[in-house]
Amino acid sequence: MSIVADNRAGNLADNLAVIEERIQSACLRSGRSRDSVRLMAVTKRQPPELLEEALRLGLRLFGESRIQETKAKHALFPPSAEVHLIGHLQRNKARDAAQLYHAVQSIDAVRTVDALASRLEEEGREIGAFLEVNTSGEPSKEGVQGFGDLLQVALAIEASPRISLQGLMTIAPYTAEETPLRRAFAQLRDYRDRLEGELGRAVPDLSMGMSGDLEWAIREGSTLVRVGTALFGNRLS
Ligand SMILES: *Cc1c(COP(=O)(O)O)cnc(C)c1O
Repeated sequence: MSIVADNRAGNLADNLAVIEERIQSACLRSGRSRDSVRLMAVTKRQPPELLEEALRLGLRLFGESRIQETKAKHALFPPSAEVHLIGHLQRNKARDAAQLYHAVQSIDAVRTVDALASRLEEEGREIGAFLEVNTSGEPSKEGVQGFGDLLQVALAIEASPRISLQGLMTIAPYTAEETPLRRAFAQLRDYRDRLEGELGRAVPDLSMGMSGDLEWAIREGSTLVRVGTALFGNRLS
């Protein structure tokens, strides 16, 4: 089975049914309940019609990767939609991020936390945060590497009253092989467990798993899978 969905108009409902089935059977095999995993529809570089159809089908959690693009689509998201930034956040875009999103999943530096915190103060808003971890070691990927760095950024978030740390996020290595995928996902879970020990409280979310690897992510404890191409088809370039 190809993981790239058929993106002719009208097929989103079918693609969603396939993803739902994959999530359900992964939960079943892992002894987990279906409602322990949220499905995020990644609408980056997808046409507005597909976002509108996703809303008609009842999807409400969305991932976007670029500020400019989210701004252009902003009127399409109803108040009931929850929109997360999953792409890199530049500090000079912190004000936009503070205005646009319910959560930022790509936090990986103390100075980004500080920039976001002061903009949120000005805007009078609050936001959720996920710490992005580079679990693959690939230099092209964003994210903190190593638990020491992760803890530093987590403590900066804890010191920011308008930012609440919800969980950790990672992008696994680009492969279909079980071993490196599971190693990456297990590392994120291990960091989450250690972080809970350091902070003395629960850090509930593990945002991991995408179109090609969500089964292993769920097996390793994912609470939020971010699915783009398997729902919507290939992205516009
Ligand atoms: C693009 C993207 C996704 C979706 O990837 P697919 O393989 O299309 O499902 C998920 N997470 C992040 C951070 C992304 O940038």
